Amino acid sequence: MKTLFNQLPGIDALLRDARFAALHQRYGTQQLTRQLRQLQADARAHIIQHQQLPDWHDDWATEAAARLTNQLKSALLPVVNLTGTVLHTNLGRARMSEAAVQAVNSVMRQPVTLEYSLDNAERGHRDQALATLLCELTGAEDACIVNNNAAAVLLMLAALAPGKGVVVSRGELVEIGGAFRIPDVMRQAGCQLVEVGTTNRTHLKDYRQAIDDNTALLMKVHTSNYQIEGFTHAVDEAELATLAQQQQLPLVVDLGSGSLIDLTQYGLPAEPMPQRLIADGVSLVSFSGDKLLGGPQAGIVVGKRELIAKLQQHPLKRALRADKMTLAALEATLQLYRHPEQLAAALPTLRLLTRSQADIAAQAHRVLPALQQRFAAQWQLTVESCWSQIGSGSLPVDRLPSAAIVFTPRDESASLSALCATLRERDLPIIGRLQNGKLWLDLRCLDEDAQLLAGESV
Ligand SMILES: *Cc1c(COP(=O)(O)O)cnc(C)c1O
Repeated sequence: MKTLFNQLPGIDALLRDARFAALHQRYGTQQLTRQLRQLQADARAHIIQHQQLPDWHDDWATEAAARLTNQLKSALLPVVNLTGTVLHTNLGRARMSEAAVQAVNSVMRQPVTLEYSLDNAERGHRDQALATLLCELTGAEDACIVNNNAAAVLLMLAALAPGKGVVVSRGELVEIGGAFRIPDVMRQAGCQLVEVGTTNRTHLKDYRQAIDDNTALLMKVHTSNYQIEGFTHAVDEAELATLAQQQQLPLVVDLGSGSLIDLTQYGLPAEPMPQRLIADGVSLVSFSGDKLLGGPQAGIVVGKRELIAKLQQHPLKRALRADKMTLAALEATLQLYRHPEQLAAALPTLRLLTRSQADIAAQAHRVLPALQQRFAAQWQLTVESCWSQIGSGSLPVDRLPSAAIVFTPRDESASLSALCATLRERDLPIIGRLQNGKLWLDLRCLDEDAQLLAGESV
């Protein structure tokens, strides 16, 4: 073993070796030295375990180059989302429009008028331009933008009801996932949760009876990711807004997703619209930028001017504010809503949600033969109808008819986990969905056939 150790080259010798000159130039002394130390350590471990040199021992430069290239790869690798969930939180939710991509590109390169007005050279406020646009689109008086909708809810509660009571229906004390639970956010904001009604039924009188001197706020939470069916009752926003006005209390609504356009015109499930709630008399409405809106991760609050001013002045706003890239992407996204006729073409989220089953099925039949050639030995491949989901807290029961390529194992030798690994290890990894012992590739979000076929034709 000792003679094997003695054959390992020293770091200094390697660094002086001409074969490493290109790597040295490309990655610098620090990175290259660290990588060579790691190679040495790995080689020693290999000798101890196997009593022989590693197989890359005859070419350290190639091994070092491969490892350094690998390290250079981003942790945020592009993938093809064939899970059937359009707004997939783990895959980054909404894909940005070209307009948003361009806008972010430009603000990254140059100084921008983030908090600066060219008219009077005074410090402006960073949400101003967006607030104007949001007011136009929603009919609200003012707006506030933060990091995400969870932050928006936290800020509304902390700024409007510190140490005070917030009245919420027991049917709306939801968990959204990723540890966002209404009672926990309430505690973090320093508010006292006042639960009213029951899990399935809450009436206006429940809210009325709960209001006392300690009450600062009425709140409604859109129960976006689950549905109670049967003997149920909830108080709608307009009714609750009337009660809130009588009692001189603000009513805030956490809408979750929300849509600035009526989705039923595209044959999609109805989603509540912020502008309707504003018209119904709700004081503040919050929603996400990267759910149905189809923009960047952001939390948007629209509503009454004096309440928005309280949010803007609260110290938490500074901690939760959005950065210039987010604001640029959000502004470009909102601009698209000024031209609703072109929205389905310009906004990827809406384009994907509105793709017809016939179009998706035709694509599936087009790519099927090449995939069959590649996988036929172990898998039977078929095109089947399936249901896509909107995702990100939109109702899981609301499904969109779609089409999938389904991999069914021919015999025991076909391993689903090995198949998934093969698809994941491609240059452009494919992420599908396992169901009933089969792999389903829902093609709704496949832009181009080539993304699926690259490297698969024999
Ligand atoms: C998604 C959602 C949130 C959290 O929004 P993020 O933008 O993910 O922070 C909060 N409330 C509701 C009702 C939601 O659907």
